[in-house]
Amino acid sequence: MNLTTKLEQIKGVGPKTAAQLRSAGLETVGDLLAFLPRRHEDFTNVAPIAELKPGNVTIRARCEKISTRPVRRGLRLTTAVLVDDSGKLNAVWFNQPYRTQQLGASDEYFFFSGVFEYNYGRYQLTNPSAELAKELPVQAERLLPVYRQLRGLKSQTVRKIIEQLRPLMSVLPETLPPSVVAHEALMSRADAISAMHFPRQAGDVVRARERLAFEELFQLILASQLNKIENQKLQGHRIVFEPDVVRQFVSQLPFALTNSQRRAAWDILQDFEHATPMNRLLQGDVGSGKTVVAGIAARQAASAGHQTALMAPTEILAAQHAETLSTLLSPFGVTVGLLVGSVKGVARAALYAQIASGGVDVVVGTHALFQDKVAFHNLGFVIIDEQHRFGVEQRQRLLGKSGVLPHLLAMTATPIPRSLALTVYGELDVSVLNELPGGRKPIKTKLVSPPSRDKIYQRVERELQAGRQAYIICGLIRDNPENDRKSVETECKKLKNSVFGHRTIGLLHGKMKPDEKDHVMQDFKDKKYDILVSTTVVEVGVDVPNATVMMIEDAEQFGLSQLHQLRGRVGRGKHQSYCYLMMSTNNKPSERLREIEQSNDGFYLAEVDMRLRGPGEIYGRMQHGALNLQIATLADTKLIARAQKATQAFIASGENLADYPDLAREVRRNQRLTTLN
Ligand code: ADP
Ligand code: MG
Repeated sequence: MNLTTKLEQIKGVGPKTAAQLRSAGLETVGDLLAFLPRRHEDFTNVAPIAELKPGNVTIRARCEKISTRPVRRGLRLTTAVLVDDSGKLNAVWFNQPYRTQQLGASDEYFFFSGVFEYNYGRYQLTNPSAELAKELPVQAERLLPVYRQLRGLKSQTVRKIIEQLRPLMSVLPETLPPSVVAHEALMSRADAISAMHFPRQAGDVVRARERLAFEELFQLILASQLNKIENQKLQGHRIVFEPDVVRQFVSQLPFALTNSQRRAAWDILQDFEHATPMNRLLQGDVGSGKTVVAGIAARQAASAGHQTALMAPTEILAAQHAETLSTLLSPFGVTVGLLVGSVKGVARAALYAQIASGGVDVVVGTHALFQDKVAFHNLGFVIIDEQHRFGVEQRQRLLGKSGVLPHLLAMTATPIPRSLALTVYGELDVSVLNELPGGRKPIKTKLVSPPSRDKIYQRVERELQAGRQAYIICGLIRDNPENDRKSVETECKKLKNSVFGHRTIGLLHGKMKPDEKDHVMQDFKDKKYDILVSTTVVEVGVDVPNATVMMIEDAEQFGLSQLHQLRGRVGRGKHQSYCYLMMSTNNKPSERLREIEQSNDGFYLAEVDMRLRGPGEIYGRMQHGALNLQIATLADTKLIARAQKATQAFIASGENLADYPDLAREVRRNQRLTTLN
């Protein structure tokens, strides 16, 4: 048996188990050893029921009675009575009805990591995990590895198979350069993997996790640094700065640039002059004026004979960008085309032809820009709005459309914490817009409990009387019997038949056809509606400066960054704007809502969000999906800093990455993930 042995050749792994393992991507012994436990349960501290103290506890008990019942919509409660020699205890699980089948009356179980607490007038054990006692290893190691549940395969089965691989631990190769392992005083890879699967004490697991997390971060950061080095060797288009062209464009704007807009534009124009392609992130809170910065750069590119492509995440936004840019650029003879899904037939064919011939200078679009049919003419500059909404593959496809790599500008309103900037975005240069354009009044935000609803409607009415407009946001399109959240359709009808019967009300949601959506949005912009009742499709970037009220129904249901994004739809003109966060109950508002009521600062709120939810939640998709970090988290700023120093030292040492094939393979994979080119 060695690391490449197929799993079905192991004793006790039948065809069925092998198939289950395969469906999780585990085919060989090596794959299974790399499948690390999610966590470890400690069963050294088993306490008798009679002696439990509040907090996290583990007990060994039988389950006397168990049943599940629905409590209200979306909540099923499982209750059980657990018994050991010292006493009895009530246990509850929320939305885990399978416990009823799992726990038989005659067997003994370990109940791990439940919370023993006083609730509803009595002590209970909440949400413990359960393992059949007789299935646990006899001369029990004190920490029990718990594996991610594979389809139909219990943690216990995985444990049994891995147990048989124990003799192989010593042959696991070292994958980090020995100089790094030594300098950082890390556990060897073999010891670390062994400690994860067969831990003797908690300290082993801590050191093993440190080693494995370090390795993941080292690979990721090295990839990003190598990308930067490789980018610097690429040939791009040199676009020479023409002061008169830019000055003339800026002087025709209806406003003066903020200092940070000026600086950002300058950064970009300097990058254009280099022979290597730009790779820059433009970060700025909602309303900070990123579009005009992009417009300045597009003006310069066009003057040098280069096409610009701008990609937006939705049709509404693409249409809006096209309109804005067209207004800004057409006085200078720069033409703007809009390529979205709803442009069809002859019009589409004509647009393709114009793009290919260079008849349009700036092409704005959604994913339609990625299609193979689109051929550009001397594409020199690519702008991606809200870049986190685009996958890496999509970006690569677009960038692959031009023989020479175009300059790239990614624009985002999502503040990027330093840890992320160092790891994933290490190869990017960053410009920040950190001031709001002049004359803007900060939005006033208010939490509203149900009894105050009528008073708020009166205030909205006052704004409408003054000629302003309002958004009302609901989480759902239509009512859902599963919960009592407000829906766009019902709310719209209700308002038309009651308080706002004398007002014009538009309705918008994501299931409408793109041209219908655009129509409604355009009508709202043209003031054909006083009120727009909408789902969160208006979330990003929509610009109606006359709208001064943002009313968000069931505000508790939205995340902090989403609320902040929604609020950013108002406060875009010279009038005072208001955001009303409508709560569905009289309960004490969450910390999240209290924070957003107090602050308009997106960067501050991003940090609050990170603290309240943890970076795993926010960047979770990215981490576990694309980045494939099993052990490391982007919250571990200390380890990130260490790994960054170590990668720099490795590059400086002149060692050859190719001498470490395992590392090289992972780094190459990460390079494809993190690169923007
Ligand atoms: P975002 O950064 O959210 O994409 P936009 O580019 O949509 O912001 O700009 C928001 C609004 O601010 C637009 O109406 C734009 O015309 C206006 N704006 C941009 N820069 C300035 C400025 N320097 N002074 C006044 N208004 C500005
Ligand atoms: Mg924008």
